[in-house]
Amino acid sequence: MGGKVVKTSDCSEHLGIKRTDGKEHNFNIKERIQTARRTKYALMGSGVHGTNGLNPAISYQIYKTYVIPRLTYGLEVLPLTKSNIEELEIFHRKNLRHLQSLPERTSNAVVLLLLGALPIEAEIHKRHLSLLYSIVSCDNSKIKDVMIRQIATNYDNKKSFFSRILNILEMYDLPSINYLQKNLPKRDIWKEEIKKKVNQYWNAQLKSEARNKTSLKNMNIENLEIGKTAQVWNLQNQPRLELRKAIIKARMMTGAYILQSDKHKFTHFVAEPLCQLCNTENEDIIHMVTSCPVLSTIREKYYVEMKMEILDSIDPIKWNTFCCNKMEITQLILDCNNFKETLNISSELMTKIEEKCRNLLFQLHAKRIEVLDALNNK
Ligand SMILES: [Zn+2]
Repeated sequence: MGGKVVKTSDCSEHLGIKRTDGKEHNFNIKERIQTARRTKYALMGSGVHGTNGLNPAISYQIYKTYVIPRLTYGLEVLPLTKSNIEELEIFHRKNLRHLQSLPERTSNAVVLLLLGALPIEAEIHKRHLSLLYSIVSCDNSKIKDVMIRQIATNYDNKKSFFSRILNILEMYDLPSINYLQKNLPKRDIWKEEIKKKVNQYWNAQLKSEARNKTSLKNMNIENLEIGKTAQVWNLQNQPRLELRKAIIKARMMTGAYILQSDKHKFTHFVAEPLCQLCNTENEDIIHMVTSCPVLSTIREKYYVEMKMEILDSIDPIKWNTFCCNKMEITQLILDCNNFKETLNISSELMTKIEEKCRNLLFQLHAKRIEVLDALNNK
């Protein structure tokens, strides 16, 4: 044009979303993750990170407000592939692990459940459903015509928004578009309905995944819930030391705290499973919590405190019936929700027991590290 070559671009930006004729979703995913990562780094200065940071429940609220919207912005209009979603989930879970100081090996489902968090796929579905509401409730007849035509012609085209939305409505057992056109609820009622159905679906999914993990056998999975923070992070206005104790407890209850018997498995039986402290038994969580003689002084002291707290309010007969072997006692200490029903523990008492157990486990951990360090420095 005018003697100059006009460059053509295969990429343009519309409303913050890159549109290309090729794999635009891959482009956008990378950009979303970069933006979200920058946002997360910016927030770290205010304590949104694991150890020595804020309580994970508060960090998650901040993350949910500032990072998730940037990570998912506009993604409801793009035909994302399974691998695109997985890329986002990996980033999301990594952040949630970091907020809770949980190591890589912690089971995916429990990383979400402890914070009551949804996977990113669910967050994107919520955006889909909100956009659908805007389209159905809009007065513009042209938009409505486009919708009707799209549903009629594109219902089996996986790249079409309407084909995706039909699947999403079915997945969460929500009313059909047809029904919504005739009986559109108020926006806040629709929002509530979405929240309820999406939470219900993922509660079932994540819990069933968690129930199959042997690393989580000492936890009460049933008590966890999307939208609710797990008791282990229930630490209002408490000093940082309490958070450090809670982190140790969270690692132990999720099977992410490494003991000698875990090392034995990870090293394909090269490392000895024998407890390095006492050399009398294999070191697993039951041994550490209930049996290791080297930890017995510490255990006596803090275990008695915890037991007294329970026996102050609970019938000793009940205690003797339900908490009589080492495995049961370990499960009580790791997650007292395991005995909420059988011992009929009130919420107020649960908070007290949680605090005592958190302390007991931390003191055992501190002593164990102290003894191991002394042995290694010999
Ligand atoms: Zn031992």
